[in-house]
Amino acid sequence: MSAGAPTSAAAHHADHAGAAAGGAPPEPVPAHRAAPATGDPSPAADNDMPPPPRVRQLVLKVHSRCNLACDHCYVYRHADQRWRERPRVIAPGTVARVAQRLGEHLARHRSDRVRVVLHGGEPLLAGPTVLDRIVRTLRGALPPGAVLDVGVQTNGVLLDDEFLALCHRHGIDVGVSLDGDRAANDRHRRYPDGRGSFADVAAALRLLGRPEHRSRWAGLLCTVDVDNDPLGVYESLVAFDPPRLDLLLPHGNWSAPPPRRRPGGTDTPYGDWLVAVFDRWYPTAPRRTGIRLFESLIALVLGGRSGTRALGFAEPDIMTVETDGTIEGTDTLKTTDDASMRTGLDVFRHSFDEALRHPSLAGRPTGPAALADQCRACPVLSACGGGLYAHRFRAGAGFAHPSVYCPDLYRLIRHVQRVVAADVEALHRRALADAPARPAGR
Ligand code: SF4
Repeated sequence: MSAGAPTSAAAHHADHAGAAAGGAPPEPVPAHRAAPATGDPSPAADNDMPPPPRVRQLVLKVHSRCNLACDHCYVYRHADQRWRERPRVIAPGTVARVAQRLGEHLARHRSDRVRVVLHGGEPLLAGPTVLDRIVRTLRGALPPGAVLDVGVQTNGVLLDDEFLALCHRHGIDVGVSLDGDRAANDRHRRYPDGRGSFADVAAALRLLGRPEHRSRWAGLLCTVDVDNDPLGVYESLVAFDPPRLDLLLPHGNWSAPPPRRRPGGTDTPYGDWLVAVFDRWYPTAPRRTGIRLFESLIALVLGGRSGTRALGFAEPDIMTVETDGTIEGTDTLKTTDDASMRTGLDVFRHSFDEALRHPSLAGRPTGPAALADQCRACPVLSACGGGLYAHRFRAGAGFAHPSVYCPDLYRLIRHVQRVVAADVEALHRRALADAPARPAGR
């Protein structure tokens, strides 16, 4: 297998708060935090403008190539092809600059926690020595007391004892991409020579699932293929006993629709697939495997917050740094057009705060006002949020559209609403029935 071939990536994107990406970390502001380390003014004092959002999650591309050639990969199979010009491995000088930028950003925002996801391509191609140096460099540049959470999102085929020792040493969480059983997974996730990757990933998961390593396992990331049996995929994935499971919709938009999704059609192939999995997962007791998409949806229909950027409303708080030091926003925009990702910024000349003010990030509209009329009038808007930003794109017309998955999202959300409402109603009835008689005089 060639590590350097212009193949495809197995890693999926942290925009979905992928298995390794985790949720947004808590952000208490410690009273003792010193003044910003840089000469920058306080972000709150800039021209009476509201403070820019801060980076909560940095997706750091440590290797720009992959050892798999997955045909649904957004990195190599979509519009943005700049990976061809980038260094394969991020250079030490670039890492040092990233660390400096991250440290100054945390200090300026008086922030005490940030998450970095080591990403690719396939990040393990960088090797344990390089990854060790990267994490040490990043941690060494943080303000005193600040915490760096680190995850790695990998296709798993290179995961071995040496990498896991590194993960234990630095507290790195490991998210692995797998699309189901052998047939389901190997439909897309293949080596460049056509061999399926399932057997190698399964071996890695058995290693990761051992009691001595399980604490480092963040979860599995599965890209939905509606040609695969939903319950077969679900059962095969939970058979590995992952702590979490993320189900991702394949990337696509109105101009480059996902497989079996007719833009503007009323059929719901993805909604039906997800509902089938939800109905198998939801009544399971006890539930050993959380499914982020469903847990977020349940939280949203009950008035809470989403743990995934695929649903609800989210500020653009993810930053991506490529192996050449280029700063970009959410990686999923690679699937839209070549220009949507370009900021013209890099860690050598620009701070993360400058990047956050760039129109492609700060200018990215958020909230209901930025959505299409159809979304603003939609009864499930508060849960859906218009879907993932990249899925709203139409060439030449931007992002002010419902998600290309609109009918699927509506079907899933309505279903979850009904199930949760029935449970709440039953709980309410039980609570009334179980309530002790009110004491006399009260
Ligand atoms: S279901 Fe469709 S119309 Fe409703 S908010 Fe989502 S994308 Fe918009």
